Amino acid sequence: MMLKVNLRHLAEHGLHLQGELPVADLDLDVHDELVRAEQPLAYDLAVELLHEAVLVTGSLRLPLACECARCLKPFTTDLHLAGWALHLPLQGEDQVPVENDCVDLTPFIREDILLDFPQHPLCRPDCGGLKDKTARKAKAVEKPAPDLWAKLDKLKLK
Ligand SMILES: [Zn+2]
Repeated sequence: MMLKVNLRHLAEHGLHLQGELPVADLDLDVHDELVRAEQPLAYDLAVELLHEAVLVTGSLRLPLACECARCLKPFTTDLHLAGWALHLPLQGEDQVPVENDCVDLTPFIREDILLDFPQHPLCRPDCGGLKDKTARKAKAVEKPAPDLWAKLDKLKLK
């Protein structure tokens, strides 16, 4: 199975693609002991035919089973591309391959998922490693407030 867009269907009206792609079909070819993709990729995409191009926008979500690079604690996280957009030219030098009126989105999805793949997975950004288990003090030192104010400031600017 591949995630394909049929251009002839697309010419008549836009498409909405929603579903799951088995991770084996995504063929990530990642051999990282700390990050494993075993669950299917969930996609929710709108596809439009522009002038000599196809525009795909939407979200991709791939659940990952990770092991923290510092403390080896297993944890799960989602690789989430929320505002994903893909522009596929149908003409010119960067023209995408079209087979039986279909464009396969899978290689482009694979590429962007790999770009976002965690290289150094951490159970949390400030994980102190194995000795962290006993160092409970770390929690008291955390200061969420400034971050919160920064966010509020941003909201005000909008
Ligand atoms: Zn950790």
